[in-house]
Amino acid sequence: MESAPRPWKLAEINYGLVKQQRYEVAVLPLGATEPHNLHLPYATDALEGDLIGEKICAAAWQQGAKVVLLPTVPYGTQTNQQGFPLAMNVNPSTLAALVTDLVQSLVHHGILKIVLLNSHGGNDFKALLRELYGRTPAKLFLCNWYQVCRDVYGQVFQQPDDHAGEMETSLGLACFPELVARREDGSLTADEGRTAATRFEAVNRGWVSITRPWHLLTTNSGAGNPHAATAEKGARFLDLLVPRLATFLVELSAAPLDERFPY
Ligand SMILES: [Zn+2]
Repeated sequence: MESAPRPWKLAEINYGLVKQQRYEVAVLPLGATEPHNLHLPYATDALEGDLIGEKICAAAWQQGAKVVLLPTVPYGTQTNQQGFPLAMNVNPSTLAALVTDLVQSLVHHGILKIVLLNSHGGNDFKALLRELYGRTPAKLFLCNWYQVCRDVYGQVFQQPDDHAGEMETSLGLACFPELVARREDGSLTADEGRTAATRFEAVNRGWVSITRPWHLLTTNSGAGNPHAATAEKGARFLDLLVPRLATFLVELSAAPLDERFPY
């Protein structure tokens, strides 16, 4: 941890500091507790929420944004991962209730611009945005950060990453290398992250969707080959991702909540 508390990070600051601030935007990262192939920690999604939340808030604050980063929610929806030990499920309705309570707290404290920074594909908040629309004065924004750089993904990575693949492993190597398990020769303890196809072409081609039973889809919970991951790729990916989201936070912080917001 840096020596001085970071004024945008609620978990580090005290009432004395909060009293002096007028925050415009709150960022709430949402993670999960689940296996990530054989090499990444169960907290991977929460760690990603922490680190991406910190990087975008630090960059936005430096550019004048009045943003506060809330502690990351460490659990997410894992109904389809129950075939794996200690995948800790919170149902979508429970998660929605938790986020609704936190949104109400923020509104009570006068923060109406709220960004849900989601790290986990099993967390689905769009329905909640629709349900809360018109029922709360809060303006809710949902960011699945892993989708932000789809257009430039191929500039950094060779393999697609659904879960614990090249992108997530590269982030781990860049930001929490001590938690990425490797063999003596330096190779990852992971398998190849191969996934099975269903018996239905319509499902395999995405015309029809299901919630995928993860123990049937994968061998060791990984979906996507992680072996080409490097710390350098993780850093490059963050260099693409962070400015995009930091710019959004700066704009959001400065935006007046007038009648035509956000248009
Ligand atoms: Zn993950």
